[in-house]
Amino acid sequence: MKQRKGNLFVVSAPSGAGKTTLCKRICDTISGVRHSVSYTTRKIRSGEINGVHYMFVDEDEFRTMIADGEFVEWAEVYGNFYGTSRSHIEGMINEGIDVVMDIDVQGAKQIRRHFPDSVLIFIMPPSMMELEKRLVDRRGDSADVIDTRLKNAVEEIREYKIYDYVIINNVFEEAVEELKAVIMGERLKITRINHEWIEEKFLKEAQ
Ligand code: 5GP
Repeated sequence: MKQRKGNLFVVSAPSGAGKTTLCKRICDTISGVRHSVSYTTRKIRSGEINGVHYMFVDEDEFRTMIADGEFVEWAEVYGNFYGTSRSHIEGMINEGIDVVMDIDVQGAKQIRRHFPDSVLIFIMPPSMMELEKRLVDRRGDSADVIDTRLKNAVEEIREYKIYDYVIINNVFEEAVEELKAVIMGERLKITRINHEWIEEKFLKEAQ
């Protein structure tokens, strides 16, 4: 019998806030936490591995999966489709594994609707100036692309109130500690424990 089911941690942030590195560190360092691998129609980037970073599919396959109800949520981001497989996350939750989902604000809202006890975490950049600097330094995108990402960042930040926690990624190691604290704290909540497990483990023998 499991002590509890896995929790769903939804992590959103504007592009350039450092969310991907943060999520990777958390999954590498806390046991029992796994990253949910999304499906996407975007082109694979150098250094990415199919099945590890994303499941890369074409638009036809993605649309078939939508029609078959295979996604618990999906969204179009910067002209590409992204979606979370229902069976993938339900499988992990049922095994007691905590799932970290790196998804956008639209996806976060859908997850909250399907899983009301999911935990929504928003990562802020240190400042808007720093975010702009990171976007300029990052991939040599054109001024237009950087401008679009900054405008989108403002729109995403406007939605921060739907989240349960806000972490400001100023000093990376501190942000890691804060995210760990959220995950650990949520694990211990009385509302998440399997009461049959407590009965079995602590109360049966005492009778
Ligand atoms: P990127 O293409 O840079 O990896 O991701 C672009 C955006 O898509 C990020 O904001 C990321 O969080 C979001 N994203 C990645 N996977 C999913 C998903 O399965 N669903 C949704 N809604 N957004 C996703």
